[in-house]
Amino acid sequence: MNRRYRKTIIAGNWKMNMTASGIKSFMQELKPLLPSPKPCEIVLCTPAVMVQNMVKFGKDCKVAAGAEDVSKYEKGAYTGEVSADMLKDIGAKYCIVGHSERRQYHHEDDMLVNAKAKALIEKNIIPIICVGESLEQREMDLTIEYITYQVKAALSGITAAQLRHVVIAYEPIWAIGTGKTATSEQAQEVCCAIRGVIRKMYGARPARSVSILYGGSMNAKNAAELLAQPDIDGGLIGGASLKTADFATIVKATMQ
Ligand code: PEP
Repeated sequence: MNRRYRKTIIAGNWKMNMTASGIKSFMQELKPLLPSPKPCEIVLCTPAVMVQNMVKFGKDCKVAAGAEDVSKYEKGAYTGEVSADMLKDIGAKYCIVGHSERRQYHHEDDMLVNAKAKALIEKNIIPIICVGESLEQREMDLTIEYITYQVKAALSGITAAQLRHVVIAYEPIWAIGTGKTATSEQAQEVCCAIRGVIRKMYGARPARSVSILYGGSMNAKNAAELLAQPDIDGGLIGGASLKTADFATIVKATMQ
C-alpha cells in the first residue's frame, strides 16, 4: 500500500450469496468489529437487488455499496438487464466489471468489459475492473503478457481524468474460491506490472494514483502480508467477506 498517493480499498464480493433481508443483522454484527475511524474505504458489492439495503444499513458502518455487474446499454429493450443509471439511482458507489466468473459463465470479453466500465464512469459509478490469468497461462509464463493485454483493452478510450475514478483488481483465476492464494511476491509482481502498463498509457502521475487491489482467496490470515506489498492497495474479497469477523480482520490489516 502507498497511502500517500492512493486510496486503500477493501471490497467484498458477496456473489450470489445472502439475501437483502440479512444485511441489517450482518451490519449490526460487523459494526463493533470495525476500527474507528475507518482505516480505509470499505465496500460491499452485492447483486443489484440488494444494493438498496446495503446503502441503507451500510451507512452506519460507513460501508459503501457496490453492485457486481451492469449492462453496457444505457436504456431500452434489454429484458433483465440493470443499467448504470438504475444503480446510481439506488445509491451504488462502485460496481465490479469483468469478474472471471462473468467472463467464464457469461462469455464476457474485453470489449464488453470496456463498454461496461465506460457506462459506469458515465454515471459516476466507480468500476472495479477485474483482470487475471488462468493457471495454464501462468504455467506457460504468459501472465504478464495476458494481463497487459487485458488492462489495455479494459481501459481503451478511458481518459486520464476518468481513470481517477477507476479501480483495477488483479484476480488470478486459479486463486478465486480455491483457497490457493498467490504468494505476496506473485501478487506484487503482477500489480506492479499493471501499474507499469498504466504508466505507459497515461504517464507517471495517473499510474501513481490508481488503486490496484488483489483478489483471490484473500483471508484474515494472509491479508496483512499481501497488503504490505507496495503496489497492492487493497483487496477484492469473496468468501471471507461473508464472515463479519474475517472481513473486519482484513479491514484491520490495512492499519499497518
Ligand atoms: C472473488 O470472487 O472476487 C474472490 C476473490 O473470491 P475469493 O476471495 O473467495 O477467492
